[in-house]
Amino acid sequence: MSKLLLLILVIVAVWLLAKGFRRKGGAGGAPAAAPEQMVHCSHCGLYLPQSEAIHDEDRFFCCAEHRRLAG
Ligand SMILES: [Zn+2]
Repeated sequence: MSKLLLLILVIVAVWLLAKGFRRKGGAGGAPAAAPEQMVHCSHCGLYLPQSEAIHDEDRFFCCAEHRRLAG
């Protein structure tokens, strides 16, 4: 009987480990938890989130001033 309990424990442990690894891998995971795309200012090289950057054609800038200076 104790052997059966041990077997169940091992199966549960392996299952939990597999579940943990799958979560860490993030294959097909929730996109809400994905980190934001980082871009760098074409003028000063500052890294910032794409949502905060000023987009000009294929370039990004940290502020309107740098966009003006680069243009
Ligand atoms: Zn800049």
